[in-house]
Amino acid sequence: MPPKFRREQAEIAKTKFQILVAAILERSVAKEFAIARKEWKVSGVYFVDDTDSEDGRGQAEYETCTCTHYPIKEVITITNKLTRDKLIVGNCCILKITEDEKEKKKHQALLNAIKKHSFSKLLIETAYFQDHFISHSEYSFLTQKKKPAWVKPKVVELKARILKLYIAKYQKNAMKCV
Ligand SMILES: [Zn+2]
Repeated sequence: MPPKFRREQAEIAKTKFQILVAAILERSVAKEFAIARKEWKVSGVYFVDDTDSEDGRGQAEYETCTCTHYPIKEVITITNKLTRDKLIVGNCCILKITEDEKEKKKHQALLNAIKKHSFSKLLIETAYFQDHFISHSEYSFLTQKKKPAWVKPKVVELKARILKLYIAKYQKNAMKCV
């Protein structure tokens, strides 16, 4: 890649990041991005339904990231814990704001579960310890190593329930931010 082109690309990347930083600082108490970013937490996640737009008739309403990137299909709303301000970001910019590796991993696991209907241990733990979506006996049921055949329908039912609760939680949170 010629140096000039590389520089131009870096300029574009820098500009978008600067727009994001400026928007964050404008709505934060701290005056420095490294500190200000810690004031923000994920308050909602939803996916733009673009299933009708495949045939060219429907028009999906994609969102625009705070950094000006368009379109974003995986919409993440973030809230400032101190100012209560809200912003919309995509799944790329969220990584520039969230610093906590554990939070990032958890966020990703929840998104994957919703998208692929798959379940990780982390998701089950979050559903029990943090969100209290399942009881202790249901939690032990889901995490037991060798499951006898008769428990399988119960596991399927439990997983469907957890998924439904997460989708409802995220949609509710997302609605609040509009
Ligand atoms: Zn962005």
